[in-house]
Amino acid sequence: KKITIAIDGFSSTGKSTLAKQLAKELAYVYVDTGAMYRAVTLYTMQNNFINADFFDKKALIDSLSKIQLEFKFNADLGFAEMYLNGENVEKQIRTIEVSNFVSKVAEVSQVRSKLVEQQQEMGKNKAIVMDGRDIGTVVFPHAELKIFMTASAETRAQRRFEELQQKGDNVSYEDVLKNVVERDYIDTHREDSPLVIADDAIEIDNSYLSREEQFSAVLELIND
Ligand code: C5P
Repeated sequence: KKITIAIDGFSSTGKSTLAKQLAKELAYVYVDTGAMYRAVTLYTMQNNFINADFFDKKALIDSLSKIQLEFKFNADLGFAEMYLNGENVEKQIRTIEVSNFVSKVAEVSQVRSKLVEQQQEMGKNKAIVMDGRDIGTVVFPHAELKIFMTASAETRAQRRFEELQQKGDNVSYEDVLKNVVERDYIDTHREDSPLVIADDAIEIDNSYLSREEQFSAVLELIND
């Protein structure tokens, strides 16, 4: 039986690691919706619609029809990479600069409706694992399995910090923690689709769970 799996939660809770593992195990399609919001943010930055002290939302909204997002499967990596208007932006969307602006871009209703529509289209045939903030609440309110992942801000910042360091991004732990806390705030306080746990979601706090423990816990839920 093919189902829809929605994985939501705060940033750097290990959502994408779990979602990728599940997709591989079940031979499902994995969709990282954060990558889509990040790609729109990169476009916004490239066109100078946003910087530290201003954000021209109207210019972004007027340009939305020119933003084409696509996932292309990379067999070597074993997952799909994000393409923005035909260009592979997988690396560019993971920088701290994009992380600093993405929640502001994700607050724009017109951005959300464009991406939600595309996400629903991708999920039409089920057999999909999608991770994000509003998958179980807005994108697939009828998903058969909904997981909500949490972990302390410090655990998440430490994880993100190590990832960025491995990539050679020269950033301090304090800045990463600040970004995590700021994004949590914006994500939970925005007017359109704020980050909330769906009534029927299963909450997993992975501060103290290993990847293997999380994975087997969720597999058990699927097989139930
Ligand atoms: O998952 P990731 O940390 O890459 O997401 C980046 C940002 O995109 C989040 O902090 C959030 O502001 C936004 N986002 C969202 N809705 C989603 C996925 C991501 O608002 N479904």
